[in-house]
Amino acid sequence: MSRVFVVNSGSSSIKYQLVDPVAGETILSGTLQRLGEPGGDAANHDEGMRIVLERLGPDAEVAAVGHRVVHGGARFDRAVVVDDAVIAEIEKLNELAPLHNPANLDGIRAARAAFPDVPHVAVFDTAFHQSMPEEAWRYAIDRELADRHAVRRYGFHGTSVKYVTERAAAFLGRPLGELKQIVLHLGNGASITAVDGGRSVDTSMGLTPLEGLVMGTRSGDLDPAIVPYLGRVADLDLGELDALLNKRSGLLGLTGTGDMRDVQRAAAESEPHAEQALAIWRHRVKHYVGAYAAILGGVDVVVFTAGIGENNPLLRRRTMTGLEFLGIRIDDDRNELDSRAERRISPDRQPVEVLVIPTDEELEIAKQALALAG
Ligand code: ADP
Repeated sequence: MSRVFVVNSGSSSIKYQLVDPVAGETILSGTLQRLGEPGGDAANHDEGMRIVLERLGPDAEVAAVGHRVVHGGARFDRAVVVDDAVIAEIEKLNELAPLHNPANLDGIRAARAAFPDVPHVAVFDTAFHQSMPEEAWRYAIDRELADRHAVRRYGFHGTSVKYVTERAAAFLGRPLGELKQIVLHLGNGASITAVDGGRSVDTSMGLTPLEGLVMGTRSGDLDPAIVPYLGRVADLDLGELDALLNKRSGLLGLTGTGDMRDVQRAAAESEPHAEQALAIWRHRVKHYVGAYAAILGGVDVVVFTAGIGENNPLLRRRTMTGLEFLGIRIDDDRNELDSRAERRISPDRQPVEVLVIPTDEELEIAKQALALAG
């Protein structure tokens, strides 16, 4: 019996999968939506979990439950078996991720009630990045103030980055410990991570997922003085500024749509703002690839993953153009091959292997949960 029930609980949704991590198979998956809303799938997380339990049926043979938790703070550098003390620790981190952690906890509590007899494991998006050295995670602000309020770089997408870097090493048949990898996790939320020998040494997201790349609706990097400046000249309060930068910026702010496919369609029709948004997006990606090649002191592997990274050959090619001086080259036929498989898109025998590795966060959560439950 090696099946793991994987739960990703949001404030108004529960996404779940039943995964066999040994076989690497998803047995079933589903989503409950609009929890607590009129006409929604369930009144709350408890009722939602009871519905899921019925859908799984009596023969699900769940060996462990794996929970996605967004923020593990500096407290969690790996997955842990959930007990009351762990729940209390996660609760203490609510302020760092007020939209996500309380919802993750609702899911954990409901699932513990629904599956009382198996181990529950919390897997944190931030944990993989706890290996960063202090010069990478500490912001240059008042030390005492920063420490008191836990202000530092944490990074996100860690479960995905851990998974794809391990798969990349396996794909290449080379030891993970020897590889300098740059992982481009390019989805709605997007980040880049420098991974040295299997350890995260720098990553573009920060205290929250707002920092770094241009995203679907998030600005990524900007001069922090813009925040008080806009507060003053545009008369925006802190809540409005937060919403502006997280929900109405990035591709959406630049073009009116946050979906990369729509931006590309518009650019293909020579819509100037769309073309420019793509140029800004690529410029920021390239900026980080160069930075992380420098931080790593070289690069052996570039990995593309997530919605845009896995499915967008044009952006893959154009973000890598101009990086030949680093040894990065793309083979156009390989790059344009329509495939769901793990694959190389650089020519053979190049200094840098450029790979597309489809991410699978649920499988990684299931693996980690089973390892701890074992
Ligand atoms: P999230 O961060 O929400 O998990 P995803 O990894 O699903 O995001 O990525 C969403 C982005 O990927 C969107 O901008 C979308 O345009 C792009 N994308 C997703 N699937 C495809 C596809 N099949 N072809 C092209 N682009 C895609």
